[in-house]
Order: sequence, then structure tokens, then C-alpha cells
Amino acid sequence: MIFISRTEEPDFWKEYKRKHPGIHYDDLQNTEAGRLIRQEIRKYNISQQHGLCAYCCKRIDLDKSLNEHIKPRGLGKYSNQSMDYNNIIACCRAEGTDATCSAAKGNDYSNQFISPLDEDCESYFEYYKNGEVVSDSPDGQYTIDLLNLNSYRLRTARAAQLKNCENINDLELIKLYYLEPDSQNCLEPFVDIIKFYYS
Ligand SMILES: [Zn+2]
Repeated sequence: MIFISRTEEPDFWKEYKRKHPGIHYDDLQNTEAGRLIRQEIRKYNISQQHGLCAYCCKRIDLDKSLNEHIKPRGLGKYSNQSMDYNNIIACCRAEGTDATCSAAKGNDYSNQFISPLDEDCESYFEYYKNGEVVSDSPDGQYTIDLLNLNSYRLRTARAAQLKNCENINDLELIKLYYLEPDSQNCLEPFVDIIKFYYS
């Protein structure tokens, strides 16, 4: 997980809410305009997140992503935040066995959860060279477990990406290619482990 520094709520989202006061996110699937606006906000957030899942830092695109509600929209007490821009991020679709991120989290959530929109979120996580992510804080560990951030696939992919950097063995090159967005404004996958070791 890396901190997502976003610009303000986009005008098209504000405008849609102004025209549809009191609307719930789930209502958006009932109309073509609603389906489009869901896609629009996802596209916007993917770009703000430099093409990476907000939780696991895997590469995502419009087809392989979903709008994730940090405070689950399916839980009654958070239902009124379903259209709150500060509650919506773009996330991978890692479902099935070894599900991670949104699919692992489901409707679970507590105030212990560390959000990628929290400025200090990165300070909660440490990375081993084998790709495992750990935390010495109960809140950090709760978040790792809830999102299943140590799934076999994520651990091996993180370790492989770190290995790529170790092979380059040139700090300036690593910073340029792995820690800065490219010309498409995308960051390399698993920039979280790279940042931990090289910045
Ligand atoms: Zn993910």
C-alpha cells in the first residue's frame, strides 16, 4: 500500500450527485447514465492511483478493476457514504481462491483499518525480501489480514519485482524507472516494496 495523494472530488461526480440528491451507489446500476458515471469515477481514480490497485499495488485497468468503498456501502451504518468521493477508490478484482483486497474484505471493516488515503499509511507496513508484508501495529496487521495482502500470488509478485530492482543495482536508475510515474502517468506494480527498500 502506498499513500494516494488525490486531487479534489471531480466536478462530474459532484454534478451527478447534485442532480440526483440522496442517491445510493447501488442505484447507479439501474440506468445507463448511472453505469457510465460508475465507469467514469473508476477511470478517474485509476489515473489518480497511477494505474495501481489502491490496496495491493497490482497493475489495474478499466476492465480489471472495481470501485471499492473503504467503508462498505453494504453495511447499514455506512450506507449514507456510498456516494462520498472520499470513500471510493479503485481496486483489483482478485476473487476466488486466494482472494485479496476488495474481494477478501467484503463487508468487513472497523476503525482499525488503515486506508491508502491516510497520509501516514505507509509507516504501518514493512516488507521482507521474500515479499511478505508485516506490521508491528495491531491496526496494520488487522489491515494486512483483512485484505489478505500476504496471499501466495502477491508475495511472489512482490518478491519478483524487488529482485528486478536488485538486478539493476543502480539507485538512480531504480528511482527513475520504478519510483516515478512513466510517460503514461503509470507507476510500476508493487511500488510499495520498492519504495520501502529504495527511497
Ligand atoms: Zn489489489
